[in-house]
Amino acid sequence: METVFIGFGSNVGDRVDYCDRAVTLLSLLPHSRLAGVSLLYETEPVRDRTDPGEGWFLNGVVQLETDMKPRSLLTTLQEIERALGRDDDDRSGPRTIDLDILFYGDHVTKEPGLTIPHPRLHQRRFVLMPMNELDPLWVHPTLKQSVAQLLTDVPDQSHVRLLFPQPSTRYGSRPTCHVPPGS
Ligand code: ADP
Ligand code: MG
Repeated sequence: METVFIGFGSNVGDRVDYCDRAVTLLSLLPHSRLAGVSLLYETEPVRDRTDPGEGWFLNGVVQLETDMKPRSLLTTLQEIERALGRDDDDRSGPRTIDLDILFYGDHVTKEPGLTIPHPRLHQRRFVLMPMNELDPLWVHPTLKQSVAQLLTDVPDQSHVRLLFPQPSTRYGSRPTCHVPPGS
């Protein structure tokens, strides 16, 4: 089993519902166990490479323990994006759901169509905040810095705030990571 972090984001339509459906589908993947889900963050659209439109995003991160290989995980994430109505013709436009592999254990991969760790995660406050909630001590395998350190140093000043009120989801209490029982 590998520990995998998947970032999700939505900025059109019923964003809470898209995020909720995406997390549900991730929780149902074969050979996998949902180990954690961050709270939902509301974030200003960042125009670093694409133009996602004006709508603010909801973002979060899911932690999975999985036996799926990175390629088949990516293919599955793309199937979930399509199932949730993402427009393949305008991939950089507003998106019902965007799913990114952030970390796959400490694997480092750079091949056409798949870069792990995700090449821009350390520049994005909206990824680092939910990631920091799940596992602040997780170390980026090439930058050799913890998520907490990356968050402290990130120059990205775009607004990222906890969504309030948090929706109740079908998961009930969210599983937390790295909190030993009884602490
Ligand atoms: P972004 O998520 O950066 O806003 P997209 O979702 O449109 O942009 O990403 C487009 C491409 O990124 C996909 O076709 C996919 O092949 C590629 N890609 C490369 N590395 C990853 C990764 N780690 N996770 C998800 N997609 C990736
Ligand atoms: Mg993506």
